[in-house]
This record gives sequence, C-alpha cells and structure tokens, in this order.
Amino acid sequence: MRPTVICFSGLDPSGGAGLQADIEAIGQSGAHAAIACTALTIQNSQQVFGFEATSKELLLAQANAVVGDLPIKCVKSGMLGTTDNIAALAEFLAQHPEYLYVLDPVLVANSGGSLGNQETLVKAFAQLIPFATVITPNTVELRALTGENDLDLATQKLFAMGAKAVLVKGGHEDTPEYIRNALYIQNELVSETRCPRLDGEYHGSGCSLASFIAGRLALGDDLKVAVHHSETWLFGVLKNAESPVTNGQKIPKRF
Ligand code: PLP
Repeated sequence: MRPTVICFSGLDPSGGAGLQADIEAIGQSGAHAAIACTALTIQNSQQVFGFEATSKELLLAQANAVVGDLPIKCVKSGMLGTTDNIAALAEFLAQHPEYLYVLDPVLVANSGGSLGNQETLVKAFAQLIPFATVITPNTVELRALTGENDLDLATQKLFAMGAKAVLVKGGHEDTPEYIRNALYIQNELVSETRCPRLDGEYHGSGCSLASFIAGRLALGDDLKVAVHHSETWLFGVLKNAESPVTNGQKIPKRF
C-alpha cells in the first residue's frame, strides 16, 4: 500500500479547502490520505458561517482506528478548531515520534472567516511546533504565532520556539507581481522561490501546498525537494482554478 498521510483538518462544504483539498493534494502527490476530522465547517467560497468542532475523544478515536492498519508515515494538520483538539494532536504526536509532521498553522479562512479563537489557538500551537518536520505559515500566521511584525525576527522567534524548518509563504505580502516563498531549515535560508502572482483569490491554496508537501515527505523526498515539487504543482493547480458562479474565491483544480 502507498505510504499514508493522516490529515487532522476540517471539512469545507465548498470542497476548495480543508479535508477535500488534503485528500486531493495527497492523492496527486502519489501518497494515500487518511482522515481525522477536526470540525465540520459551514462555509462557501465567499465566507465562513460557523463550525462545530469534533470532541478530543472523537478526534483521537478516528486517528487511533487507522494507526497500525495503514502505513502512516506522516501527519498533516490544518484547521484544528479548538485548544482541546490541539492538545489531542500533541498527545498523538508524542506517542508517534516516528511520524513526520507538516504543521499548517491555520487560524482563519482565506476568505477572512474565523476557524477558531485566534488568541487561544496561537498560544496552544506552541505545543505542536517542536514536533513539526516543517511549519508552513503564511506571513499573517507567522506574525500572529510570534507576535513579531518583522518577518526575519518572526522566523527567528519560531525557531526559538522549537521549530526545525519553516516555509514562509508570501502570498499576503504587498508584492503585486510575484509571490516569494522562503524555506528555512535550522534557522538558515536554504531556498527561495518567486513565482508570478496570479489574478484573484484562491480557496484552499495553503491546504493544498502543505498536503502535497506531506505526501512527498511520506514518499521519501527530502524537505527541500518536497517543497520544490509542491510549489511547482500548486502553481499549475491555481492557474487552472475554477471560478464559482458567485465569483467567490477560485477553487483550485487539483485533477
Ligand atoms: N481548513 C479549513 C476547514 C478551511 O475551511 C480553510 C479555509 O476555508 C482552511 C483550512 C484554510 O484554507 P487556505 O488553504 O485557503 O488557507
């Protein structure tokens, strides 16, 4: 059986982000996706109306049901929704030091809607940071996680908090022509990419990128190669993204 990534993330009814993005991206990476659902959200391509989080017990029961059954190599987390779910994931990771782990520190939806209480989530994420093979914040999340506005200082602070590698995604920065992503391993810049900025807003681009990275890591790529593959794949997927009838955020076409 294909190496498996277990995704701790939420369901997005629009199919652009969350679990569906994870499943499709991991499938496209060549790995298999398993699921531990953290929350059911109510949203479309334009806005989040609310969500109901899974209990800590239910979340762990889902994950534990497939441990030992599937060849899990990597954990990927996205929306966790509550501090209880973050604590549950930290417990799970402590029991499985053999798993690689991609931490996408989701705080809000790309449409701006709340996917949990920012302040408490930020504090709780600190427990997950030391487990992560790589953390994939956009610059808004990086600033929120560290309380630092300057991006170099914020990155350094994330390493001081126990990070091993960080992919800083520049999509929210004011660079109208391009998006700069930077990969740091042990606080050293190891690669930097600039891709042309595509028009419009996309729903689930961060989920897709982090999940593809997790899939490639599960298949044995080293981190730098996994990130490179994933960025190339994501660019194609966003170029082919489809516009909803309401003209909301575009839905990446991952097939
Ligand atoms: N996870 C869920 C369940 C979501 O609904 C969203 C956004 O709506 C995200 C994660 C983050 O999505 P993005 O990849 O657009 O940052």
